[in-house]
Amino acid sequence: MMNNGISLYIHIPFCASKCPYCSFAVAAGQLKHEVEYCDALAREIAPKGGRARTIYIGGGTPSCLSDDALMRLFAGLRARFDIEGGAEISLEMNPESVDRGKARLVKRLGVNRVSLGIQSLNDATLQALGRRHCTDDARRAYEVLRAEGFANINVDMIYGLPGQSRDGVLEDLGNLLALGSEHCSLYALNIEERSLFFARRLGVDNDAQGELYDAVCCRMEEAGVKQYEVSNFARPGFESAHNINYWEGGDYAGLGMAAHSHMAGERYWNADTLPKYLELMRDKGSARTGGETLSSAERLAEAFCFGLRMNRGVDLGRLEQRFGLELPFEKKEVLESFIEMNLLEEHDDFIRATSRGRLLLDELAARII
Ligand code: SF4
Repeated sequence: MMNNGISLYIHIPFCASKCPYCSFAVAAGQLKHEVEYCDALAREIAPKGGRARTIYIGGGTPSCLSDDALMRLFAGLRARFDIEGGAEISLEMNPESVDRGKARLVKRLGVNRVSLGIQSLNDATLQALGRRHCTDDARRAYEVLRAEGFANINVDMIYGLPGQSRDGVLEDLGNLLALGSEHCSLYALNIEERSLFFARRLGVDNDAQGELYDAVCCRMEEAGVKQYEVSNFARPGFESAHNINYWEGGDYAGLGMAAHSHMAGERYWNADTLPKYLELMRDKGSARTGGETLSSAERLAEAFCFGLRMNRGVDLGRLEQRFGLELPFEKKEVLESFIEMNLLEEHDDFIRATSRGRLLLDELAARII
């Protein structure tokens, strides 16, 4: 295990409606089950314990929870987990559910990093994405968070919608950068199978997405917001510790509907619909619906591929030491071939993806794992 303290993920599945590009485990329009859900979460948290190094409350839309629900959630977490001083505690918020009262409350509860789902500062783009907020809401929410003293804010942006021009994307990005957040997560639109866009047979042009990706990375570099992962950029010292733990192949515990956990090679997951999660927690006290045990060789290969997502790459020698075995010869040959194809490169003791390779990481991982 890499760190003494654990990384905790809490899933809050509620959203007012489902955005057409979304493939996350979401319970749209089901906030009426908030109390039942929080009871179930409390039951899931109760037998757990230990030291928490990072906590990430994601969704869904965690900020749509009532003040009572948020207070109960944090009380439950604090009762069972010894949260390290300086632990990164992140909460996802959507602009339309940010107001002064809520911002003040979550700050008081200990949240020190807010991830704000802005997605675009162009009203036509927000409409095309099916978002419920407009650019004025997004700017207002950001200002409220600042006014309430949040000094570590991530903003999300989606780009590469059909018909969106390169200039349009860069203008949107320029407006986002002007906010001055510490962290930006910038995602090229991907049509995922479980999304409405997929059902509507919407497609994206992968070559055009690749060009936009390069333009976005260049613009971020000019702005001095350093890329540290495929889609993530931060000012120095504001990289997400929680997400870096995933990319380093560290352990994490997930709680709530559809949450996944990975503890020392044991991977398991919870029911991914609200009725099933609630039913299992009520009847069995556990919502686990599946799991698998990974061998050290599988963990090594996975950790290597996750590590390639980060710009610094992976120190393969250290990873081999950590898992007590070497990457098999035939997999090393695959790596060599990727280096020859200019998809990977060696830098000091690290192997990292080139800018071309970064666009093909899923394909590379499928050959390595
Ligand atoms: S994209 Fe975010 S706000 Fe929209 S449905 Fe998915 S989780 Fe909810």
